[in-house]
Amino acid sequence: MGEKMIAKYNPREIEAKWQQRWAQDRLYEVHEDDPRPKWYEFTMFPYTSGDLHIGHWYAMAPSDAHARFMRMKGYNVLHPMGFDAFGLPAENAAIKRGIHPFTWTMGNIKRMRKQLKSLGAIYDWSREVITCDPSYYKWTQWFFLKLYEAGLAYRAKAPVNWCPNCQTVLANEQVVGEGVCERCGTRVTRKDLEQWFFRITRYVEELLDFSQIQWPERIKVMQRNWVGKSEGVEIAFGLEDGVREGVESSKKEFRVFTTRADTIYGVTFVVFAPEHPLVERLTTAEHREEVARYIEWARSQSEIARTSTQREKSGLFIGSYAINKLNGERVPIWIADYVLTSYGTGAVMGVPAHDQRDYEFAKRFGLPIKVVVAPPSWCGEELNEAYVEPGTMVNSGQFDSLPSEQGKEAIADFIEEKGYGERKTICRLRDWLISRQRYWGAPIPMIYCARCGIVPVPEKDLPVLLPEDAEFRPAGESPLKYCESFVNTTCPKCSAPAKRETDTMDTFMCSSWYYLRYASPNHKEGPFDPEKARHWLPADQYTGGAEHATMHLLYSRFFIKALRDMGIVDFDEPFIRLYNQGTIVVERQKMSKSRGNVITPDPYVEELGADAVRAYLMFIGPWDQGGEWDDRGITGIARWLNRVWFLVLDSYNQWGSKAISEPSEEAANRAKKELRRITHRTIKRVTQDLERFHFNTMIAALMEFTNYLAKVREEKSVETAAWREAIDTLLLLLAPTTPHLAEELWTRTGHPYSIHNQPFPKWDEELAAEEEFTLVIQVNGRLRDRVTVPVTINEEEAQELALSRERIRAYLKDRRVARIIYVPRRLVNIVVK
Ligand SMILES: [Zn+2]
Ligand SMILES: [Zn+2]
Repeated sequence: MGEKMIAKYNPREIEAKWQQRWAQDRLYEVHEDDPRPKWYEFTMFPYTSGDLHIGHWYAMAPSDAHARFMRMKGYNVLHPMGFDAFGLPAENAAIKRGIHPFTWTMGNIKRMRKQLKSLGAIYDWSREVITCDPSYYKWTQWFFLKLYEAGLAYRAKAPVNWCPNCQTVLANEQVVGEGVCERCGTRVTRKDLEQWFFRITRYVEELLDFSQIQWPERIKVMQRNWVGKSEGVEIAFGLEDGVREGVESSKKEFRVFTTRADTIYGVTFVVFAPEHPLVERLTTAEHREEVARYIEWARSQSEIARTSTQREKSGLFIGSYAINKLNGERVPIWIADYVLTSYGTGAVMGVPAHDQRDYEFAKRFGLPIKVVVAPPSWCGEELNEAYVEPGTMVNSGQFDSLPSEQGKEAIADFIEEKGYGERKTICRLRDWLISRQRYWGAPIPMIYCARCGIVPVPEKDLPVLLPEDAEFRPAGESPLKYCESFVNTTCPKCSAPAKRETDTMDTFMCSSWYYLRYASPNHKEGPFDPEKARHWLPADQYTGGAEHATMHLLYSRFFIKALRDMGIVDFDEPFIRLYNQGTIVVERQKMSKSRGNVITPDPYVEELGADAVRAYLMFIGPWDQGGEWDDRGITGIARWLNRVWFLVLDSYNQWGSKAISEPSEEAANRAKKELRRITHRTIKRVTQDLERFHFNTMIAALMEFTNYLAKVREEKSVETAAWREAIDTLLLLLAPTTPHLAEELWTRTGHPYSIHNQPFPKWDEELAAEEEFTLVIQVNGRLRDRVTVPVTINEEEAQELALSRERIRAYLKDRRVARIIYVPRRLVNIVVK
């Protein structure tokens, strides 16, 4: 301890003080005319379903540290924050509490904003956006009109996923697991409704092109799989039965799509979707009743449930047969729920020997299994599962003995030549269904006139305001339908009485463009100021959860590409870099209200300070993998910050006045050299870790540095200037992680405000270099070579290095190494015979 009493570290006091000062000085407000290069980095904005929990902070604290780091590296950093405020969860929560969704949402925002401010982030609050604010959703509606004008929004009757509990349509992405509602877990059913869609499928090729973005491989894989592009062949099969004389030839056949044309000789049955238009005609009298019952059941199931691989296969033979045109074989026609009319042709060929699902289907219903691609060294034995790898073609007529990969092309060529079909590319991705029969969303700005049909609301009449007095409880149809003052309007074209569209938009529409609004949140003449948007966009770094891979992250890419084609923006991708954080668990379980294990940051901030919470979240594990919240862990971090506090204040100003047991000049020089080396090595480690979002190893490096400094302090072995360099560095390196503590200590050690306007320290490569020594290499005890190596070299590495030296190899020629002796930090002696 120093001579003077050191004030206690009181995070509560200093954090409040600095947050107030930073806000008052507008320290983190950013402007477009700033001469520094821009850096636009932000976190996925939170959904306003309630208070923030520690999982939100886990997304936000490390990304703030990274943004702060970029700021100290000399960038003009835009790191904004906003609220995703429309949608089902907020509405459901409000209904449960019997209050209006608006009241509920705005109350949440108020609390969340306060919590976010206590984090001490560099959010530029003057740029906040709230998607349920009319000044925001006016432009969400405007974008809808633009998409409509461009032919990218259309209305169609479609079978949709329907949650009977939430009483609304769900996007495919919102149906999870075995076909249940993502929100409430109810089994999703199907329904036919007139809906609005966005034509995302028009952008398939571009969505599969990731060449302009640096995203994690797994997200790209998820998007690629979701788009589900497959190249294959559409093949016609003949129909044996049910074809009366005089029926057009197209009705005498049907088509299947396959990516495995090489297995066409192995077809032993075909399967139609229950809704396939030919099913009725092809069903023979004795199967009719059973088939009708099956169809009704299948239609009530969601697509996700129907195509689940876990589910037991169901299906029915309908009494008719198809003809495989390649070998003339007659195969039975079945229907099964796993075949969908919306994918491919609504009919598939069954090749049980080479497709696992077909294999299970055949096993269950006793259908034949015929091998046509032989596994290596196959001798005609029965298969225990489908063989899906390449092999040699067998039982395939003229194509026998070809390698199957080659056979695939040869058969495709043959099919095209004969006119049996053609090569085709199909996708799993469907158009984006955006209609929601719920209250809490942006109204779709469309009007239905008996005379003029569908008429868009003129731009000058935007926003179409969500009426506050509507009965918002769901009733299976949009609640807005019953709000007379909303529904009844006049046609913008002919002025006759007309009705408004009463569905609202999917909230993913609101979040597809919010990052554009951050550029100019108060702009009134358009969704954004084009100049400002051009300055900031595309965003340089986006962070958030990987669970958004096939929804928000895909929709936003589509949105920007569509806007680019309309000439509204001039770039191709919204987010250049992406980083996905993992999840915080508590006692190995996901946090959830039902488990009662939700950790709220507030009490920890209150007791230990936001800096301790920030640092602990960064220390808890690799950021992309998440970690386990543990109260002991955060206490350890708080102790470390306390040690930093005392170390800095105890030594910084009083060092010179202390009676230091004067070391020899040589010892002092050595100690100083060592201190500088470790200081620069720490700068290097922390910088590289921050660049890669490796926050946990960064904190470990800072802790090691603190321990080392405490030891140096104990030994009182260095002079003041080198010591101060080390302490200043420590504070600057801490600034992104613990901004309040760093600012306070920076000020208390006499530096000018603010540490957050200081450049991030740079390391001297020479100083940071590892300490080295000369390794002596002997052969049978005689010096044969010398080499400079880092002190961190271990025995194995030293031996390997010694044996690989050219001079040593010359000595070892023709002789056998009996053993190798290693003396750490000195020599390797190779004993040969
Ligand atoms: Zn539901
Ligand atoms: Zn009209």
